[in-house]
Amino acid sequence: MSEDKKVALVTGASRGIGKACAIELAKAGYDVAVSYAGNEEAANKTVTELKDLGVNAKAYKFDVSDKEACAKAVEEVLADFGKLDVLVNNAGITRDGLFMRMSAENWEAVINTNLSSAFYMTSPAIKTMIKQRSGCIINMSSIVGVMGNAGQANYSAAKAGLIGFTKSLAKELGSRNIRVNAIAPGFIQTDMTKDLDTEKIAEHIPLKRLGQPEDIAKAVRFLAEDAPYITGQVIGVDGGLVV
Ligand code: NAP
Repeated sequence: MSEDKKVALVTGASRGIGKACAIELAKAGYDVAVSYAGNEEAANKTVTELKDLGVNAKAYKFDVSDKEACAKAVEEVLADFGKLDVLVNNAGITRDGLFMRMSAENWEAVINTNLSSAFYMTSPAIKTMIKQRSGCIINMSSIVGVMGNAGQANYSAAKAGLIGFTKSLAKELGSRNIRVNAIAPGFIQTDMTKDLDTEKIAEHIPLKRLGQPEDIAKAVRFLAEDAPYITGQVIGVDGGLVV
């Protein structure tokens, strides 16, 4: 294996923010493992685009809310790529609704997919990172994990949980040269936000526009590549919404 080879695993990289992160990391020279839930066509398209950038890439279909599936996927990625330098815990879903009417099913789906997934993915990943004596974990939180949002008690709780997870792991793993940070995106134009009134939202954003997936990807690349003394932080990428 080449000394310079760098490997990233991005969950939910078939579309949206995860895809942009995968592409930005490939531009920085990373081979990329692309995780997805079911959209095979989109995942294969991402892999083709990554390979066109001259790096190695492969798609892995599994449910990030399934502990065993996550462990198996990390094992497969290590078998295929030989190492793991960067893990981006990005896959996520929303099941919005006022709390008074929120079902336990929608609570659990969001907590498991957005928060427990980070535990399921990070546990096997850090075993390898500890052996390597280096690693970088980036958790995709949200501004609503910082400030809350009506209609998103489940999602806000999961995203706030990711912040506590990030800060605690940073303290535990710093001595192993593993950095753990979170990104808190604002409103980013992806499938997740396609039904929102973008013009109305943009009025409330100091930079007067919604973010693009590439805006988040640039922060991911920075944390992975140019931030050797940054750990335990939550980087807001939100056009100035939360200051
Ligand atoms: P998106 O466009 O809806 O894409 C979601 C991605 O996650 C897809 O690749 C999807 O795979 C994958 N995924 C969903 N459930 C999964 C599961 N159970 N197992 C494995 N993969 C799964 O979402 P996005 O807007 O890019 O959001 C990405 C992350 O950023 C999420 O954590 C989200 O909460 C966070 N975020 C987004 C915004 C925003 O404004 N968009 C703001 C703050 C935070 P398939 O393609 O196979 O379905």
